[in-house]
Amino acid sequence: AVAQRLDRAGRAINAEPQRAQTLVGDARQDIAATVVGLREIIADLRPPALDELGLVPALELVIARLPATPPVRLHLEGTVRRLDPDRELVALRMVQEALSNVRRHARATRAEVRLSFEGHALRITVEDDGQGFVPREEYEGGHWGLVGLHERATRFGGSVAIDSAPGAGTRIQIVLPDHAVVQPSAEVIDPVCHARIQPDSAYGSATYNDIDYFFCCPVCQGAFQRDPARYAA
Ligand SMILES: [Zn+2]
Repeated sequence: AVAQRLDRAGRAINAEPQRAQTLVGDARQDIAATVVGLREIIADLRPPALDELGLVPALELVIARLPATPPVRLHLEGTVRRLDPDRELVALRMVQEALSNVRRHARATRAEVRLSFEGHALRITVEDDGQGFVPREEYEGGHWGLVGLHERATRFGGSVAIDSAPGAGTRIQIVLPDHAVVQPSAEVIDPVCHARIQPDSAYGSATYNDIDYFFCCPVCQGAFQRDPARYAA
C-alpha cells in the first residue's frame, strides 16, 4: 500500500501537487502504523524477558499479567536451567495457550503450572479444576487449541498428553526434550502397541527409571507418559 501510494504520488506530483502531497502524507501514516505493528509483533514473538532472564521469569511475568481469576500458581521442580532459545519460546507459548484455554473454556477456580526440569527434557504440566471435557472428541474436533499444542511439541520432538473428564478438571502434560528425538540404534519394540521400530525411525522417546523407550506415534508416547509404570519393562 505504501509503495502504491508513493507511485501514484510520483505520477501526480507535477499535474496535481496537492493530491501528491496527500498521498505522501498517507504513505507516511502507513509506515508509522506498520512500524508500530511490527514492534508489537516482534515483542509478541520473543518477549525481551525471555532472552534476558529465561523461561521461568518470563513465565512469572506472563502469569502476573493474567486476570486475577482463576488464580494461577507456578511450581518448579528440578534444577532450573536455560534451554535453547527456540525451546524456551515454544514452552512459553504453549503454557500461554494452555492457560488461555483454561480461562476461556474451563470455568476453573484455580490453575497450576508446573515446570519440571528433568535430565533430558522439560516437562510442563498445566492443570485446572474446571469443568473438563472428553479429550478425544475435543482433540479430533480441533477445539481448545489442543491441536496447536500437539503440532508445536512435535516440532521439537516432544509430546502432549491430555487427561480430562467432564466435571473432573483438565491436566495437560507437555514434554519438550532438550534435543531432537533420541533415536534407537537397533530395532526396538514400542512398549505401548508393541510395534517394531527400526533404527533411527522412532516418532519419539521417553526415559523412565533410566531406561529409554521409543514410540511409533504420539498416541503411544502420550499413553506411556500418562502412565509409564503400566508399560515399562
Ligand atoms: Zn505404538
